[in-house]
Amino acid sequence: MINRRALLGAGAMLPLAAQAAAPFANTPAPGWYRFRWGDFEATVVSDGTLPLGEPAGGFPTSPPGEARQLLESAFLRPDNVLLEQNCLVLNTGRQLILFDTGMGDSMGPASQMFGPTTGKLLANLRAAGIDPAAIDMVVLTHPHCDHCWALVDAQGRRNFPNAQVALSEVDLRYWTDANNKRGPEFMGAFIDGATKNLNAYRDRLVMVRDEQEVVPGVTALFAPGHTLGHHVYAITSQGRTMINSGDLAHHHVLLLRRPMWEFAYDTDPALSARTRTRMLDRVATDGHAMISYHFPWPGLGHVTKEGQGFAWHQAPMNVTTVG
Ligand SMILES: [Zn+2]
Repeated sequence: MINRRALLGAGAMLPLAAQAAAPFANTPAPGWYRFRWGDFEATVVSDGTLPLGEPAGGFPTSPPGEARQLLESAFLRPDNVLLEQNCLVLNTGRQLILFDTGMGDSMGPASQMFGPTTGKLLANLRAAGIDPAAIDMVVLTHPHCDHCWALVDAQGRRNFPNAQVALSEVDLRYWTDANNKRGPEFMGAFIDGATKNLNAYRDRLVMVRDEQEVVPGVTALFAPGHTLGHHVYAITSQGRTMINSGDLAHHHVLLLRRPMWEFAYDTDPALSARTRTRMLDRVATDGHAMISYHFPWPGLGHVTKEGQGFAWHQAPMNVTTVG
């Protein structure tokens, strides 16, 4: 039993700040960021962080130790390469477009092959006030797990019931063909997942080609290598262009400083490296903005040429507040 008089006496002596420690909030901020792009409204919505593990595994042609060194010099942890998953929602004023879907939960335990921090797109879409049923088109850069596995839910039902799905015919054929289950171990799961997710939209697929305007203001650009039909998308309004670069480069330090390094999940790693170098060179020369799926949240910035490679300049986020 606490002596009431002693307590009052002690309390009178204490400064205000010592009355109670504020508890930690432990509530994450919603994973979305909204900005204007000319006549368009853009919202980047996170699917969560994707950990790749030791850099030597993800970048097999990197000289021993060099990837760790580059990470450390950029104040990043050297033992686990962390990628973001930045899905872009574009409201053109006429249509609502979602670029890539994140991992989802359609493939059961395989949906967490990169751990439990992925698969957050739908929750963050809702937090951003975007109804999945309002999406008119899902545009895919390519149908890998972290880009298309949230097209359907675990029961195979469409998460975007009113959406068409746009991707290249090359990727559609390749990633739904069971004969391609060879090579690296992940190929089986990748093909099963793409097949389940894309089959649910078979009656509403749109095939994209190089230089094709997918919707007004959004042009597909063939960027092969990571997958054989990988496309990036140029988004232009009021004369300003940003390149939605998908998986042209997976890491803002490793593959910009060393664009010719190969990446473990590339279908044709040498072609991927050549495409990356050529297209980043063009983005840097043209001075276009870039929004990258796997770069630090929310993935928006610019590229410049630097040494034998490139440098990433993250755009400052505009502060917008309630009240
Ligand atoms: Zn990816």
